[in-house]
Amino acid sequence: MKKLIASIMVVVMVITAAPFSGFAGLDLPELFSISASAESPTHGSCGFNLEWDFDEFSGELLINGTGNMDDYSVYGGQPWSDYNMSIKTLIIAGGIKSIGSFAFYDCTALKDVYYYGDIADWCSITFAGMSSHPMINAENLYINGTLVKGDIVIPDSVTRILDYAFYNCAELTSVTFSEGVSSLGWFSFYECDGLKSITIPKSLTYIGESAFEKCKGITEVKYNGTEEEWGNVFVDWGNDELLKATISFAPPAHECVYGEWTVIAEPTATETGTKTHVCTICGEAETVTISATGFETAEGITIDFASNTVSGINAGESSLEKYLVPVDESYTWEYETTNDRLGTGSKAFLKDGDTVIGEYTILVYGDTTGDSWYDGQDAVLVSCLANDMLTEAGVGEAVYMAADCNHDGVIDDLDVALLNEAGTLLTEVDQSKSAEVLLETSTAYVEYLELVDQSPELDVEKEKAEMSIFDFIVSFIKLIIEMLFSYIPVPYK
Ligand SMILES: [Zn+2]
Repeated sequence: MKKLIASIMVVVMVITAAPFSGFAGLDLPELFSISASAESPTHGSCGFNLEWDFDEFSGELLINGTGNMDDYSVYGGQPWSDYNMSIKTLIIAGGIKSIGSFAFYDCTALKDVYYYGDIADWCSITFAGMSSHPMINAENLYINGTLVKGDIVIPDSVTRILDYAFYNCAELTSVTFSEGVSSLGWFSFYECDGLKSITIPKSLTYIGESAFEKCKGITEVKYNGTEEEWGNVFVDWGNDELLKATISFAPPAHECVYGEWTVIAEPTATETGTKTHVCTICGEAETVTISATGFETAEGITIDFASNTVSGINAGESSLEKYLVPVDESYTWEYETTNDRLGTGSKAFLKDGDTVIGEYTILVYGDTTGDSWYDGQDAVLVSCLANDMLTEAGVGEAVYMAADCNHDGVIDDLDVALLNEAGTLLTEVDQSKSAEVLLETSTAYVEYLELVDQSPELDVEKEKAEMSIFDFIVSFIKLIIEMLFSYIPVPYK
């Protein structure tokens, strides 16, 4: 109480003295300048090589220069403190090295922070403490004009993210640290409560205290090293939200084991194509170019470029010349067959001189033994497949496909019956003659060819097209009937 009375006394004395203070050199007490904010400076120094400038009209505070900011206290002392409540926007030049303690602590109207350096520069700013971070009051942080929101990538030029860097960036949903980032400072992502997913490189070895505290939304942590390597990362306390999330690890070092190829773009005689396959261990895809084939493909021929399987040729053929026609005179076909005829499993090589430029496997539906004919021998093998005495893995993909010779999707007794029928008919075909000669002279051969369709996929497409025309006609007739009936008057009951 005594103190308060003393203070009032001093104030009264000073005020009463003021009108009489005509003495030269007498400094008026600071007290008088408090109510005179209109005359307060709007710019000045705030550190070595740092200046501030406040625009009262727009509410913008600019911090310009290339140095360290002075520290202030919880009681104030910031050179812009007279405007603390009026600062709406803070603009920080890229050259700033540090932000002093309590710098923007009382700037409760602050909404937007614009920093004009890049993410790497921002990560290297020293904040004196949480109380020095403008996001303690602001809502939006813009780095180089871009709002820190959604997904961000910390570039590989950053090795350390300093303390508090992304404090309270609530709109961040995912952060990916590039390979090269080694440590995350204290509270570096504190209260980023929109953060869901984090990708951590193998280079990271230190996650500072409370780096991800109050990040309640984290569900996915992808660590690019192994589980063992994750065990060597030092995670300081206050990071339970991070550790509670599902952490996925990279598979151990391995040689990739790829699944089947998927053709993305089929090649043509002169244009390349592309195909891709995926590692069954790490899931990484490898995409490669398929060379231009070097041949024109006749109608009815199907090439599966995933396995380089050619189907659609007639049984008993010994050459691909009329089916796959080379576009260059120097290209020739060579074959690996069991009886000089192209059967299921036969290999065909397109060669440019001595160089192999394409390798294909032949598929003749119904021919499972590889002799190019479908007959009773095939019926025996297909019967074994139908009764599970042989498996797809045992016979190989091409033979397995050839076994379903009626193309109904199952290998069963119907296929066996069809092959037995074909075998009977084949006894009437002179197998010493070439396919060309047989086609001209043997009705039994033509009948035999018709038993097993070698171009089922093309027929399915054709059927589809025919069906759609049929559907169209049906719907058109329906429409006409409906129209006719609408003109017929309803009779009285
Ligand atoms: Zn792999």
